[in-house]
Amino acid sequence: MVKIECEVCNQLGYLQQLGNYFRVRHYAGMNPETGKAKFYYHQQSKEYAETQLSLNEKQGNLKQQPIEQLNNVEHRISQDLYP
Ligand SMILES: [Zn+2]
Repeated sequence: MVKIECEVCNQLGYLQQLGNYFRVRHYAGMNPETGKAKFYYHQQSKEYAETQLSLNEKQGNLKQQPIEQLNNVEHRISQDLYP
């Protein structure tokens, strides 16, 4: 996952790509009812997201992964954080 500054609220979050649609995921604490992490999303413009991604790649970070893979990783991370 690639962490970038959100175009909407200027907070750091994880950039996600779904086809031509980009969004930043923000952590919103834990849901006490389900015990699971809560997230909210802000849509990013394609231009902004691609700029951030190319900057990120120049810094030698991991390249964007397919969304399926991303979801698996998120699932695992959630379990690690909240067993
Ligand atoms: Zn945001």
